[in-house]
Amino acid sequence: MNVGDNVGEPSGSAQVALFRLEELAQNLWWSWTPGARSLFEAIDPTLWRLSHHNPVKLLLELKAERLEALAEDPAFVRQYSAVLKSFDAYMAGKNNWTATQHPGLSTNIVAYFSAEFGLHNSVPIYSGGLGILAGDHCKEASDLGLPIVGIGFMYPQGYFHQRITPDGWQEAEYEPFNRLESPCRQVLGPDGSPCRITVEIGNRQVYAAVWRIQAGRVPLYLIDADVPENEPSDRELSARLYGGNHETRLRQEILLGIGGVRVVRALGLSPGVWHVNEGHSAFLTLEQVRELVQAGQSHADAAEQVRRSTVFTTHTPVPAGHDVFPSYMIEHYFNGYWEQIGLSREAFLQLGQHPDMPGAGFNMTALAMRMAAHLNGVSREHSSVTRRMWKPLWPGLPEDLIPIRSVTNGVHVPTWIAPELNHLYSKYLGPDWADRSDDPAIWHRVTDIPDGELWAVRQHLKRKLMSFIRERARAGWVQSHLEPAQVLAAGTLLDPEALTIGFARRFATYKRATLIFRALHRLQHLLQDRWRPVQIVFAGKAHPADEPGRQFIHQIYTFCKDHRFGGQVVFLKNYDMHLAKFLVQGVDVWLNTPRPPMEASGTSGQKAALNGVPHLSVLDGWWHEGYDGANGWAIPLPNHPLETEQHDDHDAEHLYRILERDVVPLYYARDRDGIPRGWMQVVKDAIRTIAPRFCARRMVKEYTEFLYAPAASPGPRAW
Ligand SMILES: *Cc1c(COP(=O)(O)O)cnc(C)c1O
Repeated sequence: MNVGDNVGEPSGSAQVALFRLEELAQNLWWSWTPGARSLFEAIDPTLWRLSHHNPVKLLLELKAERLEALAEDPAFVRQYSAVLKSFDAYMAGKNNWTATQHPGLSTNIVAYFSAEFGLHNSVPIYSGGLGILAGDHCKEASDLGLPIVGIGFMYPQGYFHQRITPDGWQEAEYEPFNRLESPCRQVLGPDGSPCRITVEIGNRQVYAAVWRIQAGRVPLYLIDADVPENEPSDRELSARLYGGNHETRLRQEILLGIGGVRVVRALGLSPGVWHVNEGHSAFLTLEQVRELVQAGQSHADAAEQVRRSTVFTTHTPVPAGHDVFPSYMIEHYFNGYWEQIGLSREAFLQLGQHPDMPGAGFNMTALAMRMAAHLNGVSREHSSVTRRMWKPLWPGLPEDLIPIRSVTNGVHVPTWIAPELNHLYSKYLGPDWADRSDDPAIWHRVTDIPDGELWAVRQHLKRKLMSFIRERARAGWVQSHLEPAQVLAAGTLLDPEALTIGFARRFATYKRATLIFRALHRLQHLLQDRWRPVQIVFAGKAHPADEPGRQFIHQIYTFCKDHRFGGQVVFLKNYDMHLAKFLVQGVDVWLNTPRPPMEASGTSGQKAALNGVPHLSVLDGWWHEGYDGANGWAIPLPNHPLETEQHDDHDAEHLYRILERDVVPLYYARDRDGIPRGWMQVVKDAIRTIAPRFCARRMVKEYTEFLYAPAASPGPRAW
């Protein structure tokens, strides 16, 4: 099997000299490599900005003359050669961590299944935290030399674009994304025609094509049902991420789980470990059991073998995050399949049964918990909540012995670090700091950075955010004919000198985006202090079917347009990775107010802290283990359980108090050089204590040691 090559034949001399630019653009390695980013930016800084940092698009739109001029430019050619040299060295990957620390794993493929991957904006196949975590995981695996292969969906229409009507309602717009402008290529079969897999879904063969995306050394294979062989309704199957009803969702999950295993086989891969990242793909376990049973094994032996090599990560305690399908639907789609895996109808349905709610339907998390021997939650707190939730699956076992580990989420440092800070860290932490991002000793050197230098970079990043916001507002005014109030709501009145709070995430109601509006007079007082002004930047999408989430956006948008708030509360539409980078790098404080214990981990606060933006958050998710009393601020948990309303009052009261007494005074206490010394202390503590622990390097190493290595070893049961 080889991968389709859509690079044209080089024609002019410029194309010959620079012919590997296309190859660089097609591997997302460039996106987390400063030298490669600068190279593409140098080609045409304006096109680079207009393409939202997408080199594939940049190269498509570039005039031939420009390329010829660059080929004649010795400085550019030198830069180009240097980038290629490091690219080749990276791809060859000698002496990587896996090869030296886990030689047994370095040839043992881990098949990592996820319904979404957030790698870069030019590949819009993610909606939020889950996808970005999967993307960061793959990038870090690539950096560590871990042989992971990602399996997911190509959604031809991606996730929705968010529009806000003048009166503040979110509207979802779907449009096909241009795959020619995206670093993905169709996988071809041995005969050179596009590769196809088939899955029987509801008495019909559904065909799917496979696309490949390369993230450094890690390939992702994406299933795409939009092929001419399919009925129109089947072609729609993978059109959108999390679109459609319950039944569409089930059909998608059959395609992902069962179809995904068939993709792996069609590619000729034999993974030693299968990672089910969230329950959506859990059918992959059944398909493997089917293969073994068809080869002559008993169901029990086959299931045991599959369990041993399967890792399952659960990502949320929120009920809506766990798919439960009605039994009749499962019966309809799996009629006939259960015999192929050696089970009766009843035994099959039992695989997805929640022990406490046997009549509730087929629960994908229950299936995954039963079919994987290696389980984890995504923070210490979340793992203990998960053990409590699922303890009926281990009757008689004390809660703390339930084998659900914890691997706390982390972020891929090279992806999320601001280039200006990367530069500063190279100067003070050492040129190899990014290769040692999980080493606390490296980060201890943050204390050596002069306050003034770090403060200057922080100020610069805030101005960068403000000009980005202004340019987007201007584009909205010019191109979309926004009303004046919308242009203000989009942030044109923001002040680059004022203390800026950022709040950006999915608008799931448990994240309580509106908490800070609970006592309007107190908020107004904070915002309108003439000497110490505060402003708040919001962004986030609500799932189109989440009516309460849309209401929250509407409420906030109404405040954004309200004269009383002086243009100091703003809402930025279309939160995605591109905007997220500007926000986590550019604001002063990162706010998070989930209703505990709903936030399994959260990662945006980790991205912020890495960039010197302290976290102000409810003690939930990763912050439980990240907060040390000096590296940010924590809204404490109430001493005893409270009803919803009282709990919100309690948390809002603490939030105002922390802002009024701690955050605002500290930020505005300046010395004679205009530097907020006390503030810089918190900034440095945040970077020093959070970066080494909540980076993807630490995370992927833990996955490897605690989950992949045991799953790959053919020994006895892990527990
Ligand atoms: C990091 C990120 C998220 C996840 O943030 P949480 O803190 O988990 O809510 C969601 N969306 C985007 C675009 C992100 O970059």
